[in-house]
Formats: sequence, C-alpha cells, structure tokens
Amino acid sequence: MADKYTRKQFQAQYPDDAACLLAILERRYGNAEACPKCGIVGKLTRIEGRRAFACKEGCHIYPCAGTIFDHSPTPLTDWFYAMYLMTATRNGVSAKELQRQLGVTYKCAWRIGHQLRILMNARAKAQQDGPLSGHVEVDETFIGGRKSRTQIRRHGDKHSKAIVLGMVERCGNFVGKVVKSTGKMRLIPEVMENVAIGSRISSDEWNVYKRFLPSLGYKHSYVTHSAGEYVRGDVHTNTLEGFWSHLKRGIRSTHVSVSKQHLQKYVDEFAFRFNNRDQPADMFRRLLAQVSKVPHVAAE
Ligand SMILES: [Zn+2]
Repeated sequence: MADKYTRKQFQAQYPDDAACLLAILERRYGNAEACPKCGIVGKLTRIEGRRAFACKEGCHIYPCAGTIFDHSPTPLTDWFYAMYLMTATRNGVSAKELQRQLGVTYKCAWRIGHQLRILMNARAKAQQDGPLSGHVEVDETFIGGRKSRTQIRRHGDKHSKAIVLGMVERCGNFVGKVVKSTGKMRLIPEVMENVAIGSRISSDEWNVYKRFLPSLGYKHSYVTHSAGEYVRGDVHTNTLEGFWSHLKRGIRSTHVSVSKQHLQKYVDEFAFRFNNRDQPADMFRRLLAQVSKVPHVAAE
C-alpha cells in the first residue's frame, strides 16, 4: 500500500489560493504553455485579485469557469482542504465537521460536501477499466427502515427502506446503484451494464439471479443464505458484506442518517474510497483530476 498523503504534504503543495488556482489551470489545460484561447505560445500570467490568467495577446482565462468552484465565494484553499479531508478519512466528513474545520456556515459546508460527492461519483464510474469482470459478487442491501429482507423482496417497501444493488470484482472495483425494487427489471439491466458477459457471478439464492443470469451468458453460482449457507468454496458475497457494513457504519457515525434522495451520492463517495484503497496517497490527485471532467452542478 502506498504511503499516506499527509496533511503536511498537502499544505506544502497547496499553501495558498494561487497554488490551488494554478493546479486547476493545469488540470484543465495541461501545462498551459500556450494560451487555450488564441494558441499563442508562452506562459500565462496570473491576474492579481481575480481567479484568472492572461496571455501575451490579452486573452483572459478563467480556470474555475464551469467547475464546482465557479461563483463560489469560498476560498480555493478551503475547497482543497475539504477535498483533502474527504480523501484522507475512512468514513467521510459530515457537513458539521466541514463547518467546524473551514469556519464556514452549515449551509455552505453542506453544499461543499455534496459538490465533492458529485466529483467522487464521476471518478467511481470513470475508474472502472471497462466493466467488472473475472469473479464478481452481486447482492443488494437495505438501508433504513425496519422490514426484513425477505418481506421487502416479496412485497416491496416504497416508503421506509432504500435498496442498493452492489457489484464488486474480487480484488477489484465496486459499483453500487440505488434501485427502486429487487425485481428483474431493476436488477438485471444494472448487472448487464456493469458486469462483462461471460464473467463468473456469485450471489445468494434470489430468484431473479438464478433465473436470468445463466441465460444471459454469466457463469452463475449461489449460496443459500436462507438455509444458513454463506460460503461454499469460493462462492460467497463476503466482499460485499464488508462494503455494506462499512457503508452503514460510516453513514451512522458521520451523518447519523441519509435521505433516500441523497443516498446514491454517499454510495459513490464510499465506492470512490474503496476503489482507490490501494493508493491512498494518490486519492487526492485523482479527485482533483475530476475537476476538469465534471460539469458544474447547481447547488440544491
Ligand atoms: Zn490568448
């Protein structure tokens, strides 16, 4: 496992707004040896007091335009520190904690947290080198509410529990989707979109998986959870169980609870950290790289 990216290293690399702005410029336009507008070669110079650079011909370049930093009165150093905290902690950061660390209003902290989760979402998706393949575990989990798993699978539960479908490649990436039900119309298209045909899939005995996965070209095996069978050889869903318990513990400890409406963002946030678990030192850089790819999303 790569070394940690320490707070000291972070602060040495991004000591002020100028350093942050330059990093954003480089993410968007490479080394900026030429003006992205008119193409004239030569270093861009910073326009003092504005989040802008100028070329020799007088073009103005606004690196933050169209990114999550656009129109934000929050200093870039605060945004970057929030990004650092998001990647440096195992369970994420609550709005309350961001508020305390950055000295901003709760509303502002909440917005920053959600904007960063949007970056993590895009990263989680882009990071898959193609669909999951090899040996993939597939299972759903239920978050919130009180009904049992069997009750929900049979009768549904529109009001209290949210359902998340998880797919994880053994020793590889995780993809999680909030779904409306555990019916085949909800589960199977997600599996087909995220798991390469021909892969091995391990799941539990849920009928939808047993009936449809083999005929779609997956090599399907299952354990019978209802009969107390959790492992048979290498057939199990223990990697997913581990992810779910971390996600649930994380949400409980950091956010107390999460509304259904926002659950997908938290799933993506945890997926981002899980999928980058082998390169903790690289996680910040990868999140920063997302800045140039993600269109600005308006505050909610
Ligand atoms: Zn120019």
